[in-house]
Amino acid sequence: MKLVMCLECEDVVRLFPETPRWCQCKAVGGVYVDGVNAKVWGERAYVIGFLNSSLARAIKHRPDRADQGERFEAFVIPRESESIQMVPVPKSIKELCDGRIITE
Ligand SMILES: [Zn+2]
Repeated sequence: MKLVMCLECEDVVRLFPETPRWCQCKAVGGVYVDGVNAKVWGERAYVIGFLNSSLARAIKHRPDRADQGERFEAFVIPRESESIQMVPVPKSIKELCDGRIITE
């Protein structure tokens, strides 16, 4: 699972397939183009990955009571990654999605 974090407003937004999403201040955003690859925009965007299997395990093992919650693996995706394409801030959703019709 990929998320984008905006260093301007500190919002963190989960990316969805074919539904572009923006942070609260609209400076950064992104969209999955398939199940793995995503387009991301914004100079102050950082892409975060959750290791899905680790998150699922943590949810399954959530303690009823404890001093700490169950941990899972997350990581900051490298500046250059095969699964992330940094693109200019889109002028329109149509431009972003290469002509496909997108509804939000
Ligand atoms: Zn922002």
